[in-house]
Order: sequence, then C-alpha cells, then structure tokens
Amino acid sequence: MSPAIFDIGYLVSASLFIFGLKRLGHPRTAPQGNQLGAAGMLVAVITTVLLIALGGEGLHGIPWLMTGGVVIGSGIGLLIATRVQMTQMPEMVALLNGLGGAASALVALAEVTGRVQENHMPTSAVELSTVWIAIGLSALVGWSTLTGSLVAMAKLAGGISIFGRWIDTPSWGPPWLNQAKAGLTGAVLFLILLTMIFPTNMFLVWMIVILSCVLGVILVLPIGGADMPVVVSLLNSMSGLAAAFTGFILNNSVLIVAGSLVGASGLILTIIMCKAMNRDLYDVLFKSFGGGGGKQKLTRTKVGSDPDEVAMILEGAQNVIVVPGYGMAVSQCQHAVREFAEILREKYGTEVSYAIHPVAGRMPGHMNVLLAEASVPYEQQIEMDEINSQFATCDAVLVIGANDTTNPVARSGEGPLAGMPILDVEAAPAIIIVKRSLSVGYAGVDNDLFYLDKTMMLFGDGKDQMSALNQALKEA
Ligand code: NDP
Repeated sequence: MSPAIFDIGYLVSASLFIFGLKRLGHPRTAPQGNQLGAAGMLVAVITTVLLIALGGEGLHGIPWLMTGGVVIGSGIGLLIATRVQMTQMPEMVALLNGLGGAASALVALAEVTGRVQENHMPTSAVELSTVWIAIGLSALVGWSTLTGSLVAMAKLAGGISIFGRWIDTPSWGPPWLNQAKAGLTGAVLFLILLTMIFPTNMFLVWMIVILSCVLGVILVLPIGGADMPVVVSLLNSMSGLAAAFTGFILNNSVLIVAGSLVGASGLILTIIMCKAMNRDLYDVLFKSFGGGGGKQKLTRTKVGSDPDEVAMILEGAQNVIVVPGYGMAVSQCQHAVREFAEILREKYGTEVSYAIHPVAGRMPGHMNVLLAEASVPYEQQIEMDEINSQFATCDAVLVIGANDTTNPVARSGEGPLAGMPILDVEAAPAIIIVKRSLSVGYAGVDNDLFYLDKTMMLFGDGKDQMSALNQALKEA
C-alpha cells in the first residue's frame, strides 16, 4: 500500500479534530464537535494500526496486541462513561487528563527503553538531541500531568479514600514548596540535558520519571479553593503538550497536530479561567491563593423560610434571575429549575434568565451542560459580565446551590476568594437561596449574602425544595 494513503488517513483525522474543535465553540454544536473528534481519533487509530501491520517506517508494535488494547480500552471507556454519575464528571475529566499525560509518557518511556536495549541510537548529534529532548519533555509533562491530575481529582471529590480510610481534601503548602517546585523543575531539565550526553543511561530516565511525578503532586497540592478551575484547565493543556512531544519522538504528524490542538485550546481555557478568576497564572501556581486555610467556622444563624412564603414573594414578578451553582448539579434539580421558570412565565408572564458564572460548578461549562440537558434555551443563559447590571433592576433572584460565585467577600481583597469577580446577587431587591444549610462553598468561606434581611433561605435538598416551590407556585 502506498505510504501516501496513510498520510491521507492522518490528514482526514487532523481535519476532523480541527472541525470538531470549531464546533465545540458553541453549546448547540458541541455534541456534534464531540462526535467529529471521536471520529478523528478512530481514523487515526485505524491508520496507525494498519501502518504498523504493513511495516510502516518509524513505528513499532504488534498489531493484534494494539487492536486488543483498543477494544479493551474502548470497552472500559464506554463502561465508565455510561456508569459515571453526572456529579462525578469533573473528577472523570481530571482523571482523563491524567491518563492522557500518562499514555504519552509511557510511549516515550517505551521508545527510550527500546532504543537503549536495541542499541538503536540516532546517528547525528542533532537528531539525538532532538529525540532525547522530546523524550525528556514528554516524561516531564506527562508524568507530572498524571500525578497532578490525581491530586486534582481528589480535591474535586472533596477527599480520597485510602484503604477504606477517608482523607479530606488534601491540601498542604508551606512557603518553601515554591522553591521546591522551581528546584525540581530545574533538576529535571538538567537531567534531560544529561541524557543527551549519556543517552544509554536508564538511571537518568528513571530519575526524570520519579522527579516529574513528585513535581505534579507538589504543583497541585497547595492550590485549592476557587483556583482549582485554572489548575484543571492547565492540566488539560499539559496532557496535550505531552502528546505533541511524543509525536515528535515517533515522527507522527497526527499526534503532533492533536497534541498541539489540545495544548493550545487548554491554554486558551486556562487564560479564560484566569481572567474569570481575576488571577495571574504565575500567582495561582506559585502563590497558592486558595489552599491551606481550611473551612471557616460558622458563627451566625438564620431562620429558614418555606416554599409558600417564597411563592408569595414571586407572585406577579416581572423579571427573575436564576443563579445556578454546584448544588444544582449535586441535587440534579435542573429539570425542576426549568419547570420553575415555565410556571412563572405561564402564570405571571415573568421573564426568567439564568446567570452563568464562568467557574460555577466543578468544571468549565458545567451549568450550561446541565441547563442544556433540561432543554433551557441557550439565549436565556447569560454570562456574568452581561447579566451583572441586571440584578439591581430585577424583581427577585433565585440562587440554587451556588455559593462562592455569589459571595460578596470576594470584593474585600482577603481570603481564598479575594479578587474573584462574582455575580452581583447582593444588588437584587429580593434574594431566595436554596441549599441544605448555611455551610460554606468550595473555597470554605462564610457568605454574608445568607444573612441579609432581604434574603430568604429555603433549606433542604435542591430537588426537594424546587419541587415544593413549584407546587406552591402552582397553588398560589
Ligand atoms: P460552591 O461550591 O461554592 O457551593 C455549592 C453549594 O451547593 C454549597 O454551599 C452547598 O451548600 C450547596 N449544595 C450542595 N449539595 C446540595 C444539594 N443537594 N441541594 C442544594 N444545595 C446543595 O458552588 P459555586 O458553583 O457557587 O462555586 C463553584 C466553586 O467551585 C468555586 O469556588 C470554583 O472556583 C470551584 N471550582 C470550580 C471548577 C470549575 O471548573 N467550574 C473546578 C474546581 C473548583 P449546602 O451544603 O448547605 O447544601
């Protein structure tokens, strides 16, 4: 078979990735973008297995073993994807980032081991340096992405179970850790340089692997609170970079393209998240804003309201804003929230819109995904910058399971939320908050909003309270 046919396969695959990425840019076209990306991956895998089966240059492998791996891996992926709870999606995204990094790093490790065992060294100094730098960088980025993502996964889950013992969100960050991060990065880069001088020395390679793993852990461990979204998107970008480096090692164009696309789009997302949080990436990584502080103790109390009382406040409202947050994801009450808007529209002609904070929930676009699942029109989902001026003029706000993203303390310049732009719920004339208690959000900070005179707390699970509120509205 002509080698050109494989290039065409890779070209088709890369094009599908690019078109898929373009369509991921809007919630309406995103599902199609996802399918295009998956189709691109399928074409890339088939092309690569065929290339290896027909003895293509530069790639090694046992075709039946690879096919078996693809089938088993796809089966596991399918099983996890269909079984995972919606609330566990952020952890799954973190895990997939880590596995992406690990896959690239393992390929790099296999390549270096194979070359050393077969004594198959590049002949020119330039080629040797290029290959060994790519192997080293793939290991550095890939292994640190794996361990960093595992820590991020534990942080997103609120803790980790080790041999049946539950350990709360791991967070640790003494000031000297920043020097340790810089020192470890420097040490790994130095080891990569050494591998170019001693290319057959596997001890150096294993040291790179071990130090990179430690680096991933200490990079993510101190980061906490509201800064996690930045870290998760950065890890996503790093998994792409690791793949691109591995593409250089294997001289595989589709891996370079796919890795670069993930790396670049992840970096764009990281920048968007930094802007949304009003943070500098350097500060997030090296000043550890959110970590360490633990949860604030609550000292104040507030008497709860009941659904009938809230329904009375909403009677005849012309303009209501719904602020969804992580609690809506936990209680899976997005359908009840949409029903709430429908009842108000039908009964009083109320205009209902949804205020979307960029980091609400536990993953980028979390609220959009949930609301889309409940068939809430995209036009009603309004970004923070656009809707913030409307809080003062609306009749009421319904906050459903949101906390940090509405916390006015962010404006005070102190604590883990300092400087983060928030939804201006405080400006609304009437505030209804649905959550189970007065307890803190992800960043662990008490919220003054709960204690305002104009705030009514509807304590209880989101789904239960929204159903009760909908019933009360129907009967009002
Ligand atoms: P928060 O995490 O601040 O608060 C969620 C609230 O939901 C809690 O206070 C909780 O209160 C309530 N809740 C939990 N379960 C239920 C339930 N069953 N029914 C009703 N309420 C419930 O949410 P926000 O969305 O406002 O903020 C997101 C936070 O997560 C930010 O700090 C952000 O930085 C961080 N983050 C975001 C990521 C992203 O990519 N979007 C990634 C990682 C972190 P109670 O227990 O009283 O019910």
